[in-house]
Amino acid sequence: MSPPRESPPVRRLDDWDRDRLLDLADEFETPLYVLDVERVRENYRRIATAFPDAHVMYAAKAHTGRAVLTALLDAGADIECAARGELQRAIDAGADPNTLQYTAVNPPAEDLDYAVSLAADYPGLTITAGAMDTFDRLASRGYDGRVAIRVNPGIGTGHHEKVATGKDAKFGIPANAVAETAADVDGRFDLVGVHGHVGSGVLQDDLDDHCRALGTIADLAREVETATGRSLEFVDVGGGLGVPYHEEQAPLDIEHVADRIREAVGEFDGTLALEPGRYVVADAELILTRVNTRKETDAATVIGVDASLATLIRPAMFDAYHPISNITAPERTHDPVSVGGPCCTSADVFCTDRPVARPERGDILAIGNAGAYGYELANQFHSQPRPAEVVVDGEETHIGRRRETLADVTRLEER
Ligand SMILES: *Cc1c(COP(=O)(O)O)cnc(C)c1O
Repeated sequence: MSPPRESPPVRRLDDWDRDRLLDLADEFETPLYVLDVERVRENYRRIATAFPDAHVMYAAKAHTGRAVLTALLDAGADIECAARGELQRAIDAGADPNTLQYTAVNPPAEDLDYAVSLAADYPGLTITAGAMDTFDRLASRGYDGRVAIRVNPGIGTGHHEKVATGKDAKFGIPANAVAETAADVDGRFDLVGVHGHVGSGVLQDDLDDHCRALGTIADLAREVETATGRSLEFVDVGGGLGVPYHEEQAPLDIEHVADRIREAVGEFDGTLALEPGRYVVADAELILTRVNTRKETDAATVIGVDASLATLIRPAMFDAYHPISNITAPERTHDPVSVGGPCCTSADVFCTDRPVARPERGDILAIGNAGAYGYELANQFHSQPRPAEVVVDGEETHIGRRRETLADVTRLEER
């Protein structure tokens, strides 16, 4: 493996090779996901370098593409999975099941069956649960292997209410029930860790709250050690590290974040574990989309494109901002426009009243920071086949996932 190189803390839309993107749009059509797998490696290496003693697991749900998983496994990352499909895909990509961590949130029976049978052959697998009921369901399947208790510190953080898991009762054992749960779980399983994941998209301004929550998770880990008289292997503080989606936002200073997190966790003999998702993949991917309609009204200039909320749902779902640039003609005057897709809902809009270099029919727009929860949340609303993803790796280009056809959309229909 080549030695880690210095990499910039964020990649902005302007940092991509515009000519190459235009060629890709011509060759592979639009809408098109473009993933730069070297950027995925760089993002992982920055975390691994900032946390040399930590166990870094990539949270697969941010982007489960084979190219991402393989690159990260090769770079030395382990993988955190939250569903059986993710476990399966991590294994298909080459992960040793003994290194996998499965986080069970309201797990379907099939997921528990899968994880338990996997653990029978690979006892290194760790299962994290955040409800006594889930532990009971594991025990009823004869499981007595490695578990971690997911705790709820009562503090959520992040870019949107819908990702602030740390104070949502859905996630984790409430702080005041952790010691009692631990005493019970300790007798029935191999209790190896305490786990928490409190929010997502954390930037500098959220760091105080985030670290307060992580401090509480670490306190709960110490409480578990006291309650059980056992030394835990790890305290896992989850993911959540953010990337700047707005051009004017500063990227995290990852060395500073590492210091703050270590300070927040404090004295702990076991390993610190982390599960970054977004940070690893967000700025490694963008979407290319072609302008099909330009309409000027008194209220707005409306630009219609061939990507939609089916391609990227984050703006509709989380009010997320994604940078947008006209890469066909970046030199044109920037006038305020709204950009949206072909779906019949007002939620299908990537931006409103945003200055973009005057988009004309046929232009290619790039939508940045689409790597995390982008393709992963893509859907087929309006019977739209999901787009292709091309993977660039240095000079090389290959198809990560082919473009769906209408036959793919209707494949499961019974006649
Ligand atoms: C989603 C999730 C992560 C990753 O979160 P990011 O904000 O993408 O870093 C990590 N751990 C768990 C348990 C998760 O559910």
